[in-house]
Amino acid sequence: MPLAILAYHSHHVVGAGYEVNDHVAFARDLDLLTNLGWTIVPLSDLVAAHAEDSKERLVALTFDDGPVYDVDDVVHPELGPQRSFAGAMRDFAARRPGAQPRLHATSFVIASPEGRLAMEASADATYTWLAPGALSESWWLPAIESGLIAIANHSWDHLHPALAAVRHSRGARGDFAQVDTATDADAQVRDASAYLWSATRGRSLPYFAYPFGHHNAFLARDYLPSVGAGVCAAAFTTEPRLVVPGDSRFLLPRFVCGADWRSPEALARLLA
Ligand SMILES: [Zn+2]
Repeated sequence: MPLAILAYHSHHVVGAGYEVNDHVAFARDLDLLTNLGWTIVPLSDLVAAHAEDSKERLVALTFDDGPVYDVDDVVHPELGPQRSFAGAMRDFAARRPGAQPRLHATSFVIASPEGRLAMEASADATYTWLAPGALSESWWLPAIESGLIAIANHSWDHLHPALAAVRHSRGARGDFAQVDTATDADAQVRDASAYLWSATRGRSLPYFAYPFGHHNAFLARDYLPSVGAGVCAAAFTTEPRLVVPGDSRFLLPRFVCGADWRSPEALARLLA
């Protein structure tokens, strides 16, 4: 039975319309998913349902990269007020009480404080909007405590091209598939997990979203299955398809808003 995982980026704010603003899309999609008969569940419930071959039609919501716009409303200098993803979830719950009693999302954040500062300073304005401070970590624990959002691992530094130095033995940037040794994987996955665990006082989740969606056989078949369920119990790609029985727990696919669908009709087709 169908299980779906959707990914949104709260820094994808380059216009006012659904296709160029994930805040607009996300709010619309909460209604669409509900109207299409999908039950929104925490990512951990979806992972458990996959292991049990559940017959329910479940969808989990994920956010990538960790801008504070996941949880805080913000005023864009040209586009005006943007309702946060968490705010849109609260609006939905108030507008349609009881319609999605398990409404929840998981935010995959980047551990490295220096890396986050460099990413803020070099955001690609054709795709993202990041004001100074947008990638701070101060919102992580309050978000967990709100009961609406979980915090999980999106690597140490994303091997982001903007960084002067990345934690990789060959200095690889922009290609996470080059994380192909235990040393590099420990730096990018294990150390990030430990940082998030500490920053959230032990309340982060042991889930990993591959940066850029890039993965390889070493990570998915050797490293992540052996690193321990406390560090990584499941991992998520950006392969645009539904989760199907037999999918590896360390290669669970996700659809990405703005890349895999740009309208409510297109999302409905993906989920049909
Ligand atoms: Zn990312």
